[in-house]
Amino acid sequence: MGACYLAWATDEKIRDRAANGGFVTAVLVAALEKDLLDAVIVVKKEDVYEGIPTVTSDPETVVECAGSLHAAPINLTRFVVEFYKDERNKGKKIGLPAKPCDARGIIEQAKRQQLDINDVYLVGLNCGGTLHPLGLREAAAEIYGIDPDAVVKEEIKAGKLFLSLQSGEERECKMDELEERGYGRRDSCKMCTTKIPTMADLACGNWGVPKGEEATFVEVLTEKGEALFRNALENGYIEVKEAPEESLEVRERIKNAMVKRAEEWWQKLDVVRELTRDERLKFYVETLKLCIHCGACRIVCPVCACGDAAKCVSMHDERDDYVISMYNMIRLLHLMDSCIGCGQCEDVCPVDIPLTLIHRRFAERMQRKLNYTPGMSVEEKPPFYEAELRWHDIL
Ligand SMILES: Cc1cc2nc3c(=O)[nH]c(=O)nc-3n(C[C@H](O)[C@H](O)[C@H](O)COP(=O)(O)OP(=O)(O)OC[C@H]3O[C@@H](n4cnc5c(N)ncnc54)[C@H](O)[C@@H]3O)c2cc1C
Repeated sequence: MGACYLAWATDEKIRDRAANGGFVTAVLVAALEKDLLDAVIVVKKEDVYEGIPTVTSDPETVVECAGSLHAAPINLTRFVVEFYKDERNKGKKIGLPAKPCDARGIIEQAKRQQLDINDVYLVGLNCGGTLHPLGLREAAAEIYGIDPDAVVKEEIKAGKLFLSLQSGEERECKMDELEERGYGRRDSCKMCTTKIPTMADLACGNWGVPKGEEATFVEVLTEKGEALFRNALENGYIEVKEAPEESLEVRERIKNAMVKRAEEWWQKLDVVRELTRDERLKFYVETLKLCIHCGACRIVCPVCACGDAAKCVSMHDERDDYVISMYNMIRLLHLMDSCIGCGQCEDVCPVDIPLTLIHRRFAERMQRKLNYTPGMSVEEKPPFYEAELRWHDIL
């Protein structure tokens, strides 16, 4: 475990806008102003239901983007990859707030030589999960009894989702209740067991912050994280104190409870678990047969690094008569070692194929066989050629 602190921005404007103590924003602003970073990617609030990934070198824009958007389930990996596709950005240093799925996607792309991880500063955010924007709109109307367009703020505190109106009125509902009624977090987030981004340079969150304190709980995990932290501290952008033992315990306890809950969700949502192998095969065929080969799942996939010349791209143009198309077969094979279960593919699928479930089933078995977890450090590449691939084991 890295050194742990309670930290907050010294700038009041940052603290006012921030999710917790404003540490993340202050660290990014300090890094830009003191030339530790050339650019950052932050998420701009359009409204409660939309966040727009924004690449900027302007500290004011970073301050404007403070705060957490739980209904903006974007993965920032491809924005980092796109940044480095521009030759003018080669060798530049970039920083970003990174949920565990952002951090893992970026590390997987580094392994595929799409970027140099030494140039990317991952300010990790703990993550209990994201909500689908349309699901939140429906919940606002159905559960909270309010006009979705009248919601000006959403917040998750102590297991409850709070929605605020322009008038200042605040309504609340327990997350568990929302989820029992089919709302709440996206399925991929409910099943996700990576809640603290220990693969990032810093891990920031509110778990472990004592009640009533306006601070961010920060774990410093790497030398890059230490550099960001020191730069902000020594230049007066943040104040810190060592995290008390009780804070460490509370954070660990909540994380463990969330991981346990995620495992329970996986048991519940894995609808093919009890089926025979033949029945499972039938399920995969029937659902993947719905595919219209639009290619959206590949475009949003944070770990796919094939590019436009990839074989599966031409496959989805040509179509074929296989029971499961070659496009889907190639994606299944490609993702078995590296799927991070982020659910981006399922979010964009126009025919609602349960892609998270299918990929996760295949990936879980393969990753166990390889003893590999995507998002492990860049040195720990998956041992591709040592794996003995037998469809029977995996189906
Ligand atoms: C979806 C989500 C779920 C979270 N769940 C938990 C949790 O269960 N437990 C916990 O301890 N902490 C959680 N966090 C982290 C917590 O909300 C704060 O972000 C963290 O404590 C840092 O606080 P801060 O005041 O220092 O951040 P700020 O200074 O407010 O900076 C937050 C940064 O996050 C960026 N951001 C906002 N929304 C997103 C998004 N959807 N994806 C990526 N970046 C975004 C903003 O642009 C900003 O740069 C979650 C954050 C997010 C985004």
